[in-house]
Amino acid sequence: MRTLQGTPASPGVAVAPAWIFSRAALDLPKESVEETDLEVERLRDSAEQVASDLEARSAKAEGELAEVLDAQAMMARDPEMIDAAVEAVRTKRTPAPRAVVDAGETFAEALQASENEYMAARASDVRDVCVRIARRLVGADDTLSQMSQRSVVVADELPPADVGELDRDLVAGIAIAQGSRTSHTAIVARALGIPAVVGLGEVEVDPGDEIAVDGDSGQVFVEPDEKTRSEIESRASRAEDRRRHLIERAASLEGSTRTRDGRRVEVAVNVATEVELKAGLEAGAEGVGLFRTELLYLDRTEAPSRAEQSAAVRNLLDPLEGKRLVIRTFDFGADKPVPFLSLPTEENPAMGVRGVRLARDQPELLDDQLGAIADAASTGDRIAIMAPMVATAEEARWFVERVERAEMEAEVGVMLEVPAAVFMAGEIAEVCDFLSIGTNDLTQYLFAADRQNGRLGSLQDPFAPALLRAVKAVCDAADGRAWVGVCGEAAADPLWAMIAVGLGVEELSMGPESILEMRVSLSESTLDGCRAAAAAALAATDAAGARGAAEKALG
Ligand code: PEP
Ligand code: MG
Repeated sequence: MRTLQGTPASPGVAVAPAWIFSRAALDLPKESVEETDLEVERLRDSAEQVASDLEARSAKAEGELAEVLDAQAMMARDPEMIDAAVEAVRTKRTPAPRAVVDAGETFAEALQASENEYMAARASDVRDVCVRIARRLVGADDTLSQMSQRSVVVADELPPADVGELDRDLVAGIAIAQGSRTSHTAIVARALGIPAVVGLGEVEVDPGDEIAVDGDSGQVFVEPDEKTRSEIESRASRAEDRRRHLIERAASLEGSTRTRDGRRVEVAVNVATEVELKAGLEAGAEGVGLFRTELLYLDRTEAPSRAEQSAAVRNLLDPLEGKRLVIRTFDFGADKPVPFLSLPTEENPAMGVRGVRLARDQPELLDDQLGAIADAASTGDRIAIMAPMVATAEEARWFVERVERAEMEAEVGVMLEVPAAVFMAGEIAEVCDFLSIGTNDLTQYLFAADRQNGRLGSLQDPFAPALLRAVKAVCDAADGRAWVGVCGEAAADPLWAMIAVGLGVEELSMGPESILEMRVSLSESTLDGCRAAAAAALAATDAAGARGAAEKALG
């Protein structure tokens, strides 16, 4: 047995034979070409065929995947890249397949040098396009659609064009050498509920080798020993039983989620892409509680047009069919940098000009985004708009006025993620329709513990009584004038959610994978039980104590 460690990208476990999705087998010709004109023509033809093929796949795909495929089709026609390859054929007599792969590599390396994770992720899209062109030139082609038995897909990288072909019935798990949690493969795997590990470095396995994937720990076992295999198999079968049970239980739930004694709690989904929305709605999400709009901007050197921004909003409104869409206006800066703004480097970006502060600094950017949302809205839609990183009541007022100027029908709210705003929640609730608590950042700022620093994990426990008391303070201060939701990661934990409901939270928003379990857990609870859990947790002196006390109170 060999054990590989990567980054957990999509939870769950699976064991199955390896299905190698390999591009390494591509044998690039080395000998110089004689007929350069002919070779250039072959290159251009092949690039055009790949572009058309990607467009055809895009037409069959949906939403965000379709956009990625369209973007790749544009890359295949990128004159700068194709000209670089043509130049190599003409001046160095390089064979077309090698010329196009080399040209793609130069472009990809430039992208990869970017510190922005999303930008770097586009490097793999460029490489994929060029390899596709080269494969066509040498007459080789392979796609996931050729898979016929349940397998673990093992790949160096899984290009978006192929991710679109993932069949959750056939793909038991995914093990990828490259990639990050925010790569397209990881997002799609999570939305489809396929266990996945990315960033494994090298994955040397042979087709058919038995592979066990642990998407919770980030471990991949090649030819697992008997003990590991049976552990993974029993975890997979317990998870499957649990999933079936949840689906059965959820099927008997009617309409909106309520506790046994009738308290209504809106269970919503957090999304950055349409794939996540689709998965969330399938699991019974009652709306979107947080649309992270940054993804559209992050890999850009120029701002997306108002029409493009508007289309992205419309693409979410359509499947929602009148359910609420809470849109967070851009939260650039800190962990979400954007190349097109060329923002000055800050000593401490998490505390810098980000979120609503940047919107005030460059109001035309916000107006453009609000205009795009207004363009997208039509009768029957339920839109809510909220600002990130609000620290004062004055900022909240400024934001509300800005949305009013955009003249659309929308609820207006703010994210409660800065401790100062917790103390001013009453004044903020005065001017807003809702407050959505962002526990990820609120915890970071409350404890002065960088959310990206794993060594500070003990200071980032959402059960910490300090955080629970902050949630209580917000609910008490809002006092029914504004509804209170939670959209940080904490909201995905059923026990934490019950405490929040006991404190007065009315809406909980989480990743699509947590919706089913949350709806079932809440419908099996009572408001009295939630209140008892909240009181017990608040009285604890630390996170472990709060967790234990809440569990005990709920029996
Ligand atoms: C949060 O801070 O809790 C939140 C939901 O926003 P993000 O994670 O995007 O900063
Ligand atoms: Mg935040």
